This record gives sequence, C-alpha cells and structure tokens, in this order.
Amino acid sequence: MYAIAVHGGAGVKERKELSPELEERYLQGLRQAINAGYSILESRGRALDAVEAAVASLENNDLFNAGKGSVFTADETHEMEASIMNGSNLDAGAVCGIRNVRNPVRLARTVLEKSIHLFLAGRGAEKFARENNLPFEPDDYFYSAERYQQLRVSKILKPQGTGTVGAVAIDFSGNLAAATSTGGLTNKNYGRVGDSPLIGAGTYANNSTCAVSCTGDGEYFIRAVAAYDISALLEYSGLSLREACEKVILEKLPAIGGEGGAIAVDIEGNIEMIFNSNGMYRGYRKENGAPVVSIY
Ligand code: ASP
Repeated sequence: MYAIAVHGGAGVKERKELSPELEERYLQGLRQAINAGYSILESRGRALDAVEAAVASLENNDLFNAGKGSVFTADETHEMEASIMNGSNLDAGAVCGIRNVRNPVRLARTVLEKSIHLFLAGRGAEKFARENNLPFEPDDYFYSAERYQQLRVSKILKPQGTGTVGAVAIDFSGNLAAATSTGGLTNKNYGRVGDSPLIGAGTYANNSTCAVSCTGDGEYFIRAVAAYDISALLEYSGLSLREACEKVILEKLPAIGGEGGAIAVDIEGNIEMIFNSNGMYRGYRKENGAPVVSIY
C-alpha cells in the first residue's frame, strides 16, 4: 500500500476571508503537490523522492509559506528552513537560516545525500548549495505584496505562522519518509529557528513506526519534541497512529499553549491529519485512490 499526505500549514485564513476562487487555488496547489509525489510512488519510486517532490511543488507556489511564498522576517528579509528524513535508515538532512535558495527541501536532501554533516545553517548551507549547483533566486522572487502587508500587521501583534509545508509518504517497498519546509514566522527575529528543520520536532520518519511532518507554533513543537513523540507513542506505548497524533496535538501541545497540527503515515499506510487550530491546508492520496484535499 503506497500513500502520500501533504500539508500547507496550520493557521489558515478565516473562512470569510477565503473567496471561492482563492479556496480553489489552495486546493489546486495541494492536489498538484500530492500528484507530484504520487506519480513517483505509482511508478514504484521511493518515499524519500516523493516527499521531496511534493514539498518542492509547494515551495514553488507562492500561496504557501515556504520557498517562493516565504514570509518576511522583522528585518524585511527571508530566512528559510527545511528538513527531510528517510525512515529506512534514519538518515536525515536539514538546513536553516538560508536565503535565496529556490528549493530549501532540495538543499536538505542534498545535505542528506552528500554532506558528512546532517544540519547546515546560514552561509555554510548556502555555500554548500552553490557547490552543488542548486538554483538561487534574487530577493524579488520571494517578494509578495500580501506577505509584506502581513509583516506590517504582524509588527503590532506577535510573530505569526501560516502556510509551512510538509509531506509524508510510504512507498511500494514499505519505506517511510517525511519532509518539512518553511519561511518560519512573519516578523520573526533574524536568526530565529523553528521546529521545521529540527529532526524530532517538526519532522521524523522511522520504518518501524511512522513518518510525521508538523506545522504550528514552532517554539511549542520544539518543547514537545512533537514529531518524535508521536513515533515514540507508537513504539513504546503501543498506541495507534490516530491515538498518538491526538495525544500530542490535541492534549500535550494545548496543555503548554501550542497551536498547530501534524500529518502522519504509519507502516500500514494509515494516514492521520490532526490539528488544534482553525484549520490546516491538507490532503492525501492512497494507492489507486483520488486525491482528497481540505482546509477546515
Ligand atoms: N512551525 C513553523 C515555525 O514555527 C510555522 C508554521 O508551521 O506555520 O517556523
């Protein structure tokens, strides 16, 4: 049973702010990402390639807060982060504090494949990207009037997250993988790192349990070690995937004040998409099925 699930972030627009046209654009973006990953799984490709392709598709869509659509830092720059994990051997790659790299998830994958290190930050990560000929884009590519407006609003409120992206998959061979990518929080301090690039907090995959990608208030997901906790509840407490996701997202995170959600797939191909926020852009597709997408 192969399957893929994606998210485009918790903390969605209020229903009344979402016109039918915009809603359809979001759903279409999710379907495109699902299909980018699914077509790899369908041709018996690897879960690792499928999650990378799905996340790269969302990074190229300016509706989502990752890659092209990344939010602004307080200094009116973009600092992106991403991670990817292979459940078959627990190998992983991660990057944070990077600027101008078109697809942060591809850089994370390149770190996984080619670096002796697992996690690269800032200039060192960008140098590694150049050495490996990954595409860069000028600042303009990441600019959007809407994101700039969000920064101005956010200056009088607390830093806000919306639209981080992620994917989890199980392939034909039963291997699991997860990937997450984000621009972080609007109006964040430069140098702030969230949960998305942290293995165990925002991303985790293990063939003996499940693959997880999180979205929400990063600081809380780090404190809860949320992605790994879901896996650990399967491994050590014998909870089902649904019970584990509900425990972490609906009980443990709210208890410390954390808002957000997670998508997860287990070794039987069960998919869960649980959130405690007003919604989560999300969708999945299982072997021989059609894509299923939703927001609220
Ligand atoms: N988790 C992300 C962060 O804290 C934000 C989000 O998921 O929207 O950077």
